Amino acid sequence: MASAVVTPAFIEAIRARLPDLRLLTEVADRESHRADETAYLPTGLPGAVALPTETAQVVELVRICAEFDVPIVPRGAGSGLSGGATGLEGALTIAFTAMDRIVEIDRDNLCVVTQPGVINARLKAAVAEVCLFYAPDPASFEMCSIGGNLGTNAGGLCCVKYGQTRDSVLSLEVVMADGSLIRTGGKNLKDVAGYSLTHLIVGSQGTLALVTEATLRLRPAPPARSTLIAFFPTLSAAGDAVAAIATAGVSPATLELMDRFTIRAVDDMHGLGLDRDAAAMLMVESDLPALAADDELARAEAACTGAGATTTLRSRDAAEADLLRQARRAAHWALERLGEVKMEDVAVPRSRVPDMLRAVEAIAARHDVRIGTFGHAGDGNLHPDLVLERGDPNNERITKVVQADLYRAALDLGGTVTGEHGIGSARVEWLEAQRGPDAIRVMRAIKTALDPQGLFNPGRVLP
Ligand SMILES: Cc1cc2nc3c(=O)[nH]c(=O)nc-3n(C[C@H](O)[C@H](O)[C@H](O)COP(=O)(O)OP(=O)(O)OC[C@H]3O[C@@H](n4cnc5c(N)ncnc54)[C@H](O)[C@@H]3O)c2cc1C
Repeated sequence: MASAVVTPAFIEAIRARLPDLRLLTEVADRESHRADETAYLPTGLPGAVALPTETAQVVELVRICAEFDVPIVPRGAGSGLSGGATGLEGALTIAFTAMDRIVEIDRDNLCVVTQPGVINARLKAAVAEVCLFYAPDPASFEMCSIGGNLGTNAGGLCCVKYGQTRDSVLSLEVVMADGSLIRTGGKNLKDVAGYSLTHLIVGSQGTLALVTEATLRLRPAPPARSTLIAFFPTLSAAGDAVAAIATAGVSPATLELMDRFTIRAVDDMHGLGLDRDAAAMLMVESDLPALAADDELARAEAACTGAGATTTLRSRDAAEADLLRQARRAAHWALERLGEVKMEDVAVPRSRVPDMLRAVEAIAARHDVRIGTFGHAGDGNLHPDLVLERGDPNNERITKVVQADLYRAALDLGGTVTGEHGIGSARVEWLEAQRGPDAIRVMRAIKTALDPQGLFNPGRVLP
């Protein structure tokens, strides 16, 4: 594993070979690249932070780091929730935020070519101007970058219909640890030539390659969304409704869940008049044309009523639908107003959502802690947020035991310890429990083959 730290000679080499590169060496600048949104994890102070604007600069940086044996932490917008972009003490962080050009919107081939530093929301808005749609939609879309989305294989609200980030990637331009530059594909919708390096690299959290450009799939812009919300007397009933919607022959654009604790936090923040006594709420969105959307939501509504919903409501217009979606997106911030929050990211097969919800309730009761659960129930991905008293010295201990119980429950249900946030540095010790030693051996063989010096994000993902 590369283990040297940034030295004056290293800085001098970068300045000599890349005179136009912005290189941050002041402590305050390095401090601002130390943490991501998992503020509770231990982090290191980067020895320097490079802000390349062009691929050629990234290639040269990798070569210099290899010569000096200095590890590299790739970083997007730093909104990650697994500690994948947090600083390593003395290492070089390459922040891709200045590689923020949308290179080409290709309407004939329904794709966009972009640098990695472009913020997800900006890309969506740019393609929407020509009536196209970039589907991946993390709740953090206004702050996270495309490079970070590729690094984590980000999910979000509309995965249930459009898949995760990986499902919208046609090709990547990447810098490998030996300084070579490769393209993993092109603009072809179909391409099975050789191993799919695209699929391998997306989600590898900067441990296998540095993404310098991506060709992403677009779709014709769907109509404005219509929304159904349904309130349930128990979490189990909401879980049953999720399973029933899945078998009702409909394919909603989103199928999101919030529990009572989260409903109240969101309602306090936004004053939406939600049913504060309900145990759970589902939000179902359709992006089909008007009549078809009506039919889709009617079927979802029937599934909710059948599962015991006490109230169902439809958005009156697109503005109201947008408001509801924004409120759901802000669930994490609403809970943060109530204490110190640790967001988890378990996922289970969709039919096991009711079991996972029951398990979360039992874990909260067993440890006498507050857990607000919300998430992308339609694809089985739940975010139980542990809400702790700020500054309580027991928080670290409580977090560990609650996390362990949540992960164990998810694994027992055939699920995963992370649906979309990644292993990063936060869940490294759980990878083997989920995948087993043989799978870890295969992963390690890939890492060693592609990055024998251990330059890229060492200690992340693999134990
Ligand atoms: C309130 C809130 C809501 C969120 N909601 C969601 C959600 O709905 N769905 C979801 O999936 N996530 C969600 N997240 C988590 C986070 O926003 C995503 O993981 C996002 O993809 C991170 O993007 P970023 O640009 O901030 O990347 P960073 O956090 O900077 O980096 C993420 C990972 O990508 C790697 N990386 C970054 N750029 C590159 C590159 N150019 N080449 C190679 N590797 C790179 C990093 O090394 C790191 O491992 C949420 C976060 C918050 C705070």
